[in-house]
Amino acid sequence: MGTAAVVAKKIMQLSKAEIAKRRLDEDGNLERFCSDCEEWWPADREFFYRQSRRGGRAPLHTYCIACYLERVKGYRLKRKQLAAAI
Ligand SMILES: [Zn+2]
Repeated sequence: MGTAAVVAKKIMQLSKAEIAKRRLDEDGNLERFCSDCEEWWPADREFFYRQSRRGGRAPLHTYCIACYLERVKGYRLKRKQLAAAI
């Protein structure tokens, strides 16, 4: 089975909520909506991290890599600030 067939099969298994976050660009490439910056990015690993296998239905992360890293940085900073305040 080719890669396109595998992707097509995965898309057919997506929930309504997941489908709402996907679209095709003019060239027919799959794009994904980042819930954080609210921008559309190519749905590949260059722009989105893969999620852990447990979820199953959401192979790519809800946030683009840039937003994800921002959030992780934010968490780390907050953790440091909280720890320092004690
Ligand atoms: Zn983003």
